[in-house]
Amino acid sequence: MPKKVVLLGATGSIGSSTLEVIRRYPEEFSLIGLSGHSQTDKIRSLVEEFHPSVVCLPEIPNWASLYPGTTFLSGEKGLRKLASLPEADMIIIGISGLAGLLPTIEAIKAHKHLLSANKEAIVAAGPLINQWLSEAEKQIIPLDSEHNAIFTLLSRFPLNRVKKIILTASGGPFFHTPATPETTVNDVLNHPTWNMGSYITVNSATMLNKGFEVIEAHYLFRLPFEQIDVLIHPQSLVHGMIELSDGTHTMVASPNHMKYPIAMAMFYPDIPPVGENTFALAGKTLEFYPVPYERFPLLSLAYEVGKVGGLFPLALNALNEEIVSAFLKGVIHFLDIERLIQKGIELFAATEESLLSLSLDSILPAEQKARTIARDLVSQTSYAS
Ligand code: NAD
Ligand code: MG
Repeated sequence: MPKKVVLLGATGSIGSSTLEVIRRYPEEFSLIGLSGHSQTDKIRSLVEEFHPSVVCLPEIPNWASLYPGTTFLSGEKGLRKLASLPEADMIIIGISGLAGLLPTIEAIKAHKHLLSANKEAIVAAGPLINQWLSEAEKQIIPLDSEHNAIFTLLSRFPLNRVKKIILTASGGPFFHTPATPETTVNDVLNHPTWNMGSYITVNSATMLNKGFEVIEAHYLFRLPFEQIDVLIHPQSLVHGMIELSDGTHTMVASPNHMKYPIAMAMFYPDIPPVGENTFALAGKTLEFYPVPYERFPLLSLAYEVGKVGGLFPLALNALNEEIVSAFLKGVIHFLDIERLIQKGIELFAATEESLLSLSLDSILPAEQKARTIARDLVSQTSYAS
């Protein structure tokens, strides 16, 4: 019997790669539930293709009655219901941003087998998520390529023999040639190795994406920041490694497409029985460089923010979302991103919200405060006429 899969965020980039895996292994997986926040046409074509029993959208579409075999749900309540669907064997979270948090909690509380790419929820609310996971005696199987690689490696070696985990980073477009005040949005979106959405591509260029991934790894693997390193690997073929007690490094390599880690996660504890059969390391060069931290201050900031914990990782995420969105709209320059985020964290540290302890009730006010700080900083900087 195929495993019954619920996919939240089916219309996005992670969603599309997950659908590729489901199409490739129809005997292993069957899509019984999905959600999407926009692109109603795409959702309709997925309903026609997969005949899911439950679909969630922001609002019930006027074509819903044409598909009597599918129950349509709407809004946040619908999303939570989908995330805890009793008949689902596996819940996959491919939603972006903090909107993934409530469905993540719902899935954990319902003791579901949970796979997630939603780093924002883990970064913002890692300690809460870990507490619920411990209570439910569950774990999150990570889909992000670096974390999936490390998850795979950690499951094969005794934890007390692991000296360090190492996340690889491509270094983005500005590793060899630093960004300048003239750097354009197009220069930034021209990622050398990965094809992703524009927000995450900008975060790769500042390396804050790796910073978020360091915080994500800290919570997922419950390791101190001192045991989490980053290495630049421009080819993006090795995704993660662990250094063992004797200095041996073991690593996971695969093509740089998200369908590989997603398939690994979906098959866990097994591995996919067949692959694309096109990946050969012969003729490839694998390079590794230390991170030039002075050129990527947001990565250092993420380590600091991660160590402080509390509501600071959430604030860093909210500041970055606002500031990157202003950059993508052409309102500020690329080099302003770093400066404004550093300033934004300082300003956040001086607020009452920053003193609150992390809880479901403090998340919203802290997030709103960080967004207000970011918008004010952007409006003081704006070059738009
Ligand atoms: P995306 O923008 O392509 O897709 C986001 C999905 O979330 C869409 O299906 C959208 O409809 C849904 N969504 C957005 N806002 C929502 C809301 N308020 N309520 C409900 N649903 C909502 O994003 P993506 O690139 O697929 O990334 C998804 C997550 O995976 C992010 O957390 C990202 O950091 C992480 N991630 C992505 C990649 C990648 O290669 N794209 C790699 C690693 C991790
Ligand atoms: Mg990643």
